[in-house]
Amino acid sequence: MTTATVVGSGPNGLAAALTLAAAGVEVTVLETADRLGGGATSSELTLPGLVHDECSAIHPLAVGSAFAKEFDLGAAGLVWRWPDVQFSHPLDDGRGGAVWRSVDETAAGLGSDGRAWTRVFGPLAERFGALTDDILQPVLRVPSHPVHLARFGTYAALPIPALAHRWATPEARGLFAGAAAHTFRPFSGVLSSSIPVALGASAHALGWPVAEGGTGEISRAMISLATARGVTFETGVTVRSLAGIKPTDIVMLDTSPRSAATIVGDRLPARVSRAYRRYQHGPGAFKVDYAVEGGVPWTHEPSRSAGTVHLGGTYEEIAAAERLVSQGRMPDRPFVLVGQQYVADPTRSRDGVHPLYAYAHVPAGFTGDATEAITRQIERFAPGFRERVLVTHVRTTAELEAGNANFVGGDIIAGANTARQLIARPRVTLHPYATGADGVYLCSAATPPGAGAHGMCGYNAARYALRRV
Ligand SMILES: Cc1cc2nc3c(=O)[nH]c(=O)nc-3n(C[C@H](O)[C@H](O)[C@H](O)COP(=O)(O)OP(=O)(O)OC[C@H]3O[C@@H](n4cnc5c(N)ncnc54)[C@H](O)[C@@H]3O)c2cc1C
Repeated sequence: MTTATVVGSGPNGLAAALTLAAAGVEVTVLETADRLGGGATSSELTLPGLVHDECSAIHPLAVGSAFAKEFDLGAAGLVWRWPDVQFSHPLDDGRGGAVWRSVDETAAGLGSDGRAWTRVFGPLAERFGALTDDILQPVLRVPSHPVHLARFGTYAALPIPALAHRWATPEARGLFAGAAAHTFRPFSGVLSSSIPVALGASAHALGWPVAEGGTGEISRAMISLATARGVTFETGVTVRSLAGIKPTDIVMLDTSPRSAATIVGDRLPARVSRAYRRYQHGPGAFKVDYAVEGGVPWTHEPSRSAGTVHLGGTYEEIAAAERLVSQGRMPDRPFVLVGQQYVADPTRSRDGVHPLYAYAHVPAGFTGDATEAITRQIERFAPGFRERVLVTHVRTTAELEAGNANFVGGDIIAGANTARQLIARPRVTLHPYATGADGVYLCSAATPPGAGAHGMCGYNAARYALRRV
């Protein structure tokens, strides 16, 4: 029987374990932390009964992926919940933009910019099912749906400012800037529109759902399916080198490329080792979780029904803040992402007190305290917020990395979205999951299709490994 060891139990490690086990491989998962799930866990971080997502919160690409189609997490009890407004963007004067599942409803709220929104996102949303077949795979390959991918590429290849020119109103430009900030890069780079275009289209096609009961339920469902297929798990085991683990036919590394270089050591070809050590990480995140009485009093009404609220003001303000962060400087008014998972999933709240999730984009390894900057950004668009906060829980960039070595310097997207790393990560090759050491593969979010608790990196890597057994 073929045997495999998976190092790391994030969503990609779990997806790899499940995919290998489903093909009849005997799999053991080794996890350094004392619980499984990596960046897909939830806890009562503030008050008893309030469920907070520790890392991943919103899951646009976890539904409708090839992994989700092959493994029915719903059968293991996972329930997705959608907010009415997928994401919103409040502005200073109480106005703002909101993205609903319906393209028409979204366009109707954008006045003179509605038509341009429909023209960009309407056709992509309609064909998003086919599009995900390609965008959740390595870029350097023959596409399954070249025509759909070409339409996506028309927009995705553009630098963010070139596409943002299509909109004139602060509402539409703000909405686009909020989605664009998910790249964690200065807005100017080529290909930088690929992430906001994919996220915008996904909001219409699939929505931005949350897991009922917390993101930890995604991991629980994956562990349950994997256990049923005989996968065994060991926690509290830090893998430092291949020599330190029982030999198996396949080793899947759900780690950063730098850790992989250390773990594989001399067995790694020198050129791969160099590429892994040179792999570029992105800026950091500084996270604050709040227990909030009665929810957030957003002045922009649709933001009260939004699962995700992007804060930072106008397009120009957000572009400037993201530029500063990439230069290693902390802006006074950083881009802040607020998650209101409880809007879609009331089981996370208790007695009118809600778990609010927020993080700011900060420089890599930022050592300061961004708590006040985050609270101020929320208060700016929701006066009275501060008085409703009962408890806060803070996680700095260093604490994020201490909790999970993959979040290097607080980089929650497992590698900078430079043009090169958008096209080819973790290195320039047609075989991104291969390490060059026989039987050893990288399967973390540092491989295609990149960050997110969708499991597609692990699924793709496991399928690649199975073809080589
Ligand atoms: C604050 C924050 C917000 C986020 N928001 C979202 C979101 O809303 N939506 C979304 O889709 N994604 C989000 N993400 C990103 C998402 O969590 C990651 O992309 C995803 O978890 C990556 O999965 P992975 O399996 O590659 O790695 P991880 O989830 O990072 O898991 C890696 C695992 O490997 C273990 N490990 C590492 N090295 C070793 C070793 N040497 N030995 C043993 N074990 C090891 C780690 O302890 C960890 O458990 C967010 C992340 C953070 C931190």
